[in-house]
Amino acid sequence: MKSRSTPHYSVACGWNALLPARAVRVEAPSKRKYDAIVVGAGFTGLAIARRFAELQPTKEILVLDAAEIGEGLSGRNSGILAPTVIQPRANAFGSAEEDAARKSRIVLAGLDWLRDVVKNNDIRCDWIEDAPRIVAAATKQGVDKVRTSLASLTKRALRYRERDREDLLVLIGTRYYEYGCEGFTHALIQPAALIRGLADTLPANVTLLERTAAEAIEGSGLFQVVTKRGNFVGEKVFVANNAHARSLDIALYRMVVVHTYGALTPELDDTELDLLGRLPEWAILPPTAMGTTMRKWKRRILIRSGHSYERETSIDKVRSLLSSLYRNRYPTMPSYEFEHVWGGGVGITSNRENYFGELRRGLFVSAGCQGAGVLRGSIHGKLLAELACESQSSLLADRMKLSGPKWIPPEPLRGMGAVAQMAWQHWQAGREF
Ligand SMILES: Cc1cc2nc3c(=O)[nH]c(=O)nc-3n(C[C@H](O)[C@H](O)[C@H](O)COP(=O)(O)OP(=O)(O)OC[C@H]3O[C@@H](n4cnc5c(N)ncnc54)[C@H](O)[C@@H]3O)c2cc1C
Repeated sequence: MKSRSTPHYSVACGWNALLPARAVRVEAPSKRKYDAIVVGAGFTGLAIARRFAELQPTKEILVLDAAEIGEGLSGRNSGILAPTVIQPRANAFGSAEEDAARKSRIVLAGLDWLRDVVKNNDIRCDWIEDAPRIVAAATKQGVDKVRTSLASLTKRALRYRERDREDLLVLIGTRYYEYGCEGFTHALIQPAALIRGLADTLPANVTLLERTAAEAIEGSGLFQVVTKRGNFVGEKVFVANNAHARSLDIALYRMVVVHTYGALTPELDDTELDLLGRLPEWAILPPTAMGTTMRKWKRRILIRSGHSYERETSIDKVRSLLSSLYRNRYPTMPSYEFEHVWGGGVGITSNRENYFGELRRGLFVSAGCQGAGVLRGSIHGKLLAELACESQSSLLADRMKLSGPKWIPPEPLRGMGAVAQMAWQHWQAGREF
């Protein structure tokens, strides 16, 4: 399997830039043979390594990442850990309702597991669960969509509170949104701090090597992972490099990469903070895929929006787009400057299902966690390690009953289809964008 690309971002990750310098682990170990090798040290890969090491404490595991911890996609997100259930559908194992119930159990288990890992390892990542997360709608279609989703929250026994325009004005300081649904089951985090904390507290039988891309995975039975720092041999190999699995010829016809963008303001003064509602922290999520996310975090505003197919847009254009979206929502702020603007490429499958399982004997893959991958990636990583260690559980049984991603055509059809779909969704989003 030959590699064709590794991640490359034109600007550094804003969240990571706010943290103190960290010693990057780049010294190639003299040991060349491992019981397991994990490709990719994002949420998925680190969960695989942690769980495999726990289940097999006498085995040695190597984790490779092409980038530095904190600079990959896992450090570049908005840090909203919501137990979203994506597109339930009937399949060979039951109805759409059963699919939704399985997906709900899986993602909620992800939140519980990650909370325990953070707590037990004293990971400082600004983890909070009592700041509101509101799915807020600015259009009639958006309002209808949020209202329709309430029944499924009730079914999942997830507590929520409806918010009208006046509530939202008090809470978050803007009249932009007509209606919102405040959820109570989630966590908000500083994503670069979380991924760094996860990497720095791996069990002792895990070795991490950064700035080292897997260029190819060769052989079977005993795999050779080819890197610029030499080859490593693994009995089991886990591919957890998400959107870049395609560079190892995996999920080639199952996934596209969509870039989306985030920005953080400088610390705001008290007058500016007063314009952002009375709560110290909050997160606003859009009801539609092409909408805009915002967070009030410490004394800053985060805004995430904009999409591009397969490659990054110019960061100057993104800066101006995000400024205008911020202005639309908060027309009286004295400034719409950002201290950091960045992008990240998310692996998206056509039916939003993950790529998960043993591709062939000893070669395991989890990829395509879409835009809600902190929880989904973490729990899929944990379950993939359990699958490889033959550790049965009802949750793993749930996961094995989910559908896989659908085939998508090669270029140029794929690109034409994806761009047309994004344009349509963008048009439909209207003021949610
Ligand atoms: C702007 C933005 C905002 C987002 N907001 C949220 C949010 O609020 N909540 C949420 O849940 N999700 C969010 N996401 C999505 C989330 O970041 C991803 O779903 C998540 O990072 C997926 O984790 P992962 O470990 O599967 O993949 P990744 O985080 O992509 O990790 C894969 C790792 O593999 C490495 N790699 C790639 N190729 C190779 C190779 N050949 N060899 C070795 N290593 C390799 C990469 O460097 C990377 O570190 C957002 C994404 C973006 C871009």
